Amino acid sequence: MTRETRIRLIQACQAIVGADGVISTSDELRVYECDALTTRHKAMPELVVLPTTTDQVAAIVRLCAAEGVPIVPRGAGTGLSGGAIPSAGGVLIALTRMTRIREIDPQNRTATVEAGCINLAISRAVMPRGFFFAPDPASQQASTIGGNVAENAGGPHCLKYGATTNHVLGATVVFPDGEIVQLGGRMADRPGYDLLGVFVGSEGTLGICTTVTVRLLPLPQAVKTILGVFRSIEDASDAVSNIIARGIIPVALEMIDQETTRAVEAYAKAGYPVDAGAVLLIELEGLAAEIAIEAIAVEAACREHHCLDAKVARSDEERALLWKGRKSAAGAFGRMTRNYYHQDAVVPRTKLTAVLKEIAEIGARHGVRVPNVFHAGDGNIHPLLCYDDRVPGQYEQAMAAGDEIMRCCIRAGGTVSGEHGIGLEKREYLRLMYTEDDLAAMQRIRQVLDPTGRCNPGKIFPEAEPGRAAA
Ligand SMILES: Cc1cc2nc3c(=O)[nH]c(=O)nc-3n(C[C@H](O)[C@H](O)[C@H](O)COP(=O)(O)OP(=O)(O)OC[C@H]3O[C@@H](n4cnc5c(N)ncnc54)[C@H](O)[C@@H]3O)c2cc1C
Repeated sequence: MTRETRIRLIQACQAIVGADGVISTSDELRVYECDALTTRHKAMPELVVLPTTTDQVAAIVRLCAAEGVPIVPRGAGTGLSGGAIPSAGGVLIALTRMTRIREIDPQNRTATVEAGCINLAISRAVMPRGFFFAPDPASQQASTIGGNVAENAGGPHCLKYGATTNHVLGATVVFPDGEIVQLGGRMADRPGYDLLGVFVGSEGTLGICTTVTVRLLPLPQAVKTILGVFRSIEDASDAVSNIIARGIIPVALEMIDQETTRAVEAYAKAGYPVDAGAVLLIELEGLAAEIAIEAIAVEAACREHHCLDAKVARSDEERALLWKGRKSAAGAFGRMTRNYYHQDAVVPRTKLTAVLKEIAEIGARHGVRVPNVFHAGDGNIHPLLCYDDRVPGQYEQAMAAGDEIMRCCIRAGGTVSGEHGIGLEKREYLRLMYTEDDLAAMQRIRQVLDPTGRCNPGKIFPEAEPGRAAA
């Protein structure tokens, strides 16, 4: 944008949200230049605006539309695919001041919250009334419900309950021309086209959501958490398939490999055995009698795959400690490596063993360590490519290994993202999964809502190839 446009926008935005709601100095703008994938993509916004109401969001969006300036929605910036980065410049609209819980409706089992509300704050608010909000990304202490909706976030407990899309009933959305619309409502399965379904997972490319009505679930009567200890990651992977094949769907089925358990134990002291090749964290929820039977079957499935131990947490404290270990994994990465590139892909569960073996071979070939902690029950893997940016060539080796891993997952019948989204990060890989016609069909949906292409431009879809229009 030109200097004049920027000055006009600063003044107009200040009139809407107040002087303290507009960030325009380069020092402060730098805070917003990347998301949690800090090493891959960076771009400074030209302006950041912090609205507190839907009307303010709509007014800012209309201003930007009149000036022909791109807009980029942002939540907490914990994204791992570069989705909230203003790669084409423009105004970043951050929802972090819209954190209110507007309504809790126990009768209808819903809560309506503003888009900047932190994921965990929803469960904390409804727990005293006997409910919880099921999607629990490992970033749930920081990520916003708006970001969760935009990325269709998953989490350890989504194996049984499903990802964010299964728990969103309605959303107030500001479309790229500034129109405020209500998608969905308080009831599921409304007649007509499922525009809410299209919006969830659209990564900020179809508009900005300002409030979300979520489904609440009753707290389970009983919970059992089992730590399965295995000699090798292959045995643990085979046990995952065996558990599911027995007709048991745990709420969570997480795999943590040896390198990660060692790093986690060094500071979280979760009780993970550091000499095991891998551990499975398996959680069952439901009626006490039902999960007692399921726990026996889970133990049997683990033992069929040479499980060294299957330890059931005996108290809430023990259970919390086991989960502290899993949830501390991201922090533990900092102990394992100076830099890392955190990947996200899905493979069919039955291919887990073969794909994990191939990933280890790819890492070895490129001289890159690749520890892994992931949602094994969904086949949603998260290889962590370790490197040291002070050593020439290591970054390039890690990226080359990452590229091979993505292609290996696609060959195995998987996809290039389970939950972190496509953003800037994975957009070129979509060509390996979809034809140009498929991509053009998806783009047509986007063009209906954003005909000028100003809403989070450059995200999801591959760049146009020379001599060819953008998909
Ligand atoms: C340690 C760690 C662990 C993680 N674990 C998980 C996990 O288990 N599961 C998982 O799914 N993800 C995980 N993530 C990734 C990330 O937390 C999620 O993608 C999360 O949903 C992003 O939310 P956010 O508020 O930080 O969004 P941001 O990073 O700010 O934005 C993400 C995308 O959403 C769009 N967006 C944000 N707010 C809105 C809005 N109100 N309206 C429209 N578009 C919007 C942005 O434009 C961008 O494209 C993890 C990240 C970290 C750092």
